[in-house]
Amino acid sequence: MNRPPIVTVMGHVDHGKTSLLDALRNTSVVNTESGGITQHIGASQITHNNKKITFIDTPGHAAFSEMRSRGGKAADIVILVVAANDGVKPQTKEAIAHAKAAKVPIIVAINKVDLPGVNVSKVKNQLLEYDLQLEEFGGEIISVEVSATMKTNLDKLLDSILAIWEMTEDTKESKDLKGFVLESKHDSKKGYTATLIVTNGSLSVGQEILIGKAIKCKVKSIVDFLGKKVTTLQAGDPGEILGLKELPQSGETFVLYTGQSLDTTVEEIEEVENDENFDPFAAKGGELNLILRADTQGTLEALVGSLQKLEYEGNKVTIILKDVGEVKESDLLLASVSKAIVVAFKVAVAGKIVDKSREMKILVRKYDIIYELIEEIQGALEGVFELKEEKVKGRAEILKIFPLPSGDVVAGCLITHGRLREGDSVSIRTEPNKEAEVFKSKIKILKKASVQTKTIGIDTECGVLLNSGYDKLKEGMLLEVL
Ligand code: GDP
Repeated sequence: MNRPPIVTVMGHVDHGKTSLLDALRNTSVVNTESGGITQHIGASQITHNNKKITFIDTPGHAAFSEMRSRGGKAADIVILVVAANDGVKPQTKEAIAHAKAAKVPIIVAINKVDLPGVNVSKVKNQLLEYDLQLEEFGGEIISVEVSATMKTNLDKLLDSILAIWEMTEDTKESKDLKGFVLESKHDSKKGYTATLIVTNGSLSVGQEILIGKAIKCKVKSIVDFLGKKVTTLQAGDPGEILGLKELPQSGETFVLYTGQSLDTTVEEIEEVENDENFDPFAAKGGELNLILRADTQGTLEALVGSLQKLEYEGNKVTIILKDVGEVKESDLLLASVSKAIVVAFKVAVAGKIVDKSREMKILVRKYDIIYELIEEIQGALEGVFELKEEKVKGRAEILKIFPLPSGDVVAGCLITHGRLREGDSVSIRTEPNKEAEVFKSKIKILKKASVQTKTIGIDTECGVLLNSGYDKLKEGMLLEVL
């Protein structure tokens, strides 16, 4: 490819992502000439062997997939940082899954090799377990042993980036302007600003662009990553633009607004984004992508073993990410970009994750019994069982219990989803899923600020008197209307 590659750094916390990025940037001729980076725009560029490389400053897989979920390209190459003294950790596994889902080439940087007694080959073997086939094991993934602190082998890492980029096929895209938003903010002096990365064509001051589906912007001025005013950004370059009337979101794509009807341009953007559209039932295409979370390593392995055996006329399960622990927001992003469903086995799914998953149309299934999980997934592969989310019309969290002199109990609730209505059948649960049901009842009386009310909507506090079972109510429980 001709343009500079866009590179992002991922890995577990404290493994040295920030240190490595800083060290890489400081090797750059560009930076030493100008006395280092003075302006922070979220991305920077270095020159190595007369070739430019663009780095995204915000390391991490969550930001990466969030951008992808909005249609952006996010990065061409991922550097996976693994600390030699700590090895593969939860966020390392997540980073691998996110990079693989994006089909972005990975370079492994085994960092902190300056520390005494580190065992690099142990780390390499661990990586193999996560399906990263390193070159020395006959695979294609390059690994470089580095030390951000001692600045060891940074050149080798940069060489590897350029080598991988050179092998990346030029997709022969047209020279039409295209790019994505890295971040945006409001500045009291400059107004709305956004950092963009151009991935195709070039962007010049005076041009009009369409960001996302609705934001039109005539580019008033551009500064590069060093804070210098420039008139044009070439493909691969990051820069900050002025001239926006509203804030775009990171990851939104932009194209040239050529004055044709807005709809046509919107269609073009939708075409780009449609590639990423979510279909929870990818099983129909032969592969059911799963993100698997379980309570212990032992159960996780047992589940993986059973799930990998499932098959029906070529339909199979692909496990995109497996780990112990609660379902996280970044799992939803990964599910969204890899068209996967999230399976939580005996682990909590927090209310905010449930709400977010519904908003994102990601299916999160929770199980407590292995054979139910296996049976349903097998059913999904056979097409006889449709994996579906329970539809919840309303959910309220019990904030406080008020026993009345009459012996009745009023639950003081906050409605967090949908609405509650007098007469509704409710499921009282400890968590937002049917396995966590404590009992069923009906809403007898609903009150808002002590006034009896037929229907009450989201984000409102209310008092609920149930028909029955109220002696079992506890603070923190959920009322769900199905
Ligand atoms: P991040 O959370 O992944 O961004 O990690 P940081 O870059 O903040 O580094 C975490 C800690 O590891 C800091 O105390 C760094 O000084 C240290 N560190 C980073 N790289 C190296 C390295 O190559 N060698 C050693 N010995 N320490 C390092």
